[in-house]
Amino acid sequence: MAVAMDEKLILLGHGSGGLLSHELIEKVFLRHLGNALLTPLEDSALFESAERLLAFTTDSYVVKPIFFPGGDIGRLAVCGTVNDLSMRGARPLHLSAGFIIEEGLPIDDLETIVASMHAAADEAGVTIVCGDTKVVEKHAADKLFINTSGVGAVPKNVSVSVSNAQPGDSVIVSGTVGDHGVTILSQRQGLQFKSLTKSDVAPLNGLVQEMLAACPGIHAMRDPTRGGLATTLNEIAKSSKVGIEIEEDRIPVSDAVERACEMLGLDPLYLANEGKLVVLVAKEQTEHLLEVMRNHVYGRAAAVIGQVTSERPGRVVMRNPFGIRRTIEILASDQFPRIC
Ligand code: MG
Repeated sequence: MAVAMDEKLILLGHGSGGLLSHELIEKVFLRHLGNALLTPLEDSALFESAERLLAFTTDSYVVKPIFFPGGDIGRLAVCGTVNDLSMRGARPLHLSAGFIIEEGLPIDDLETIVASMHAAADEAGVTIVCGDTKVVEKHAADKLFINTSGVGAVPKNVSVSVSNAQPGDSVIVSGTVGDHGVTILSQRQGLQFKSLTKSDVAPLNGLVQEMLAACPGIHAMRDPTRGGLATTLNEIAKSSKVGIEIEEDRIPVSDAVERACEMLGLDPLYLANEGKLVVLVAKEQTEHLLEVMRNHVYGRAAAVIGQVTSERPGRVVMRNPFGIRRTIEILASDQFPRIC
């Protein structure tokens, strides 16, 4: 039966569960993502894990635009969930993917995104083992929303938590901050320097595995996504009931991001990152950890930006190059929705 794949647009029928759905699943989803657990299309995927402690997380992705320099919503959806598992020290195993598609989305765009999800999953060494597709009428969604959930296994002796930071710990950031946020915002505003920045979206599990192998006693990790570095540091300070003191001139920011932020009146400390992490580790392990991080492609620009103190619990203080201290607050409200 000739079905409407040749029309090249997503139709409501692609979400019907009938013939068109089956064709979409085979020609787009299974073609790119097919694997031993997904391809049988059972109602749920069954798998075993040798580890007793599992990590489980979920996130929805609504970024606008769905394609941007450095990535797309598909790569973001895989990396975001891989990274949330990694921040607890888990080794990511399997992901689910739920797609909410607006009627009229070009099937070629969907296919590009699904292929990009496959590439990101491959890079991270995870498989997408179950999924769901819904199609909603025009204007009931904006092109494409994706939800991914993920399961990971936590190795013995690993205990990473945002409530574990200890006074004296070093605060390390894995690279430049603000790249993802400024890229999305400048795309949306159609600014001319848009090609100078690109999103940092990347899976961090490889970097984290090397960090944990070198320093199993890492205290805390978090990926500074929405709300940026400033918000993440505040969350850690509050959860761990410690103070955090950072040095402004030690925070890595690329020249392009700095220029873009000046033009747009933005602060890179509050901009989303999608391929960076903050890690807190005992002072004596700092140099070793830093060396391991800088040897990894996603940690080249890793830097110590400050330390944990027992003073001012719950607060983050930044010292500028003139020695003047100011409190860094949590992001007050999200002025820029749909950044991720
Ligand atoms: Mg996170």
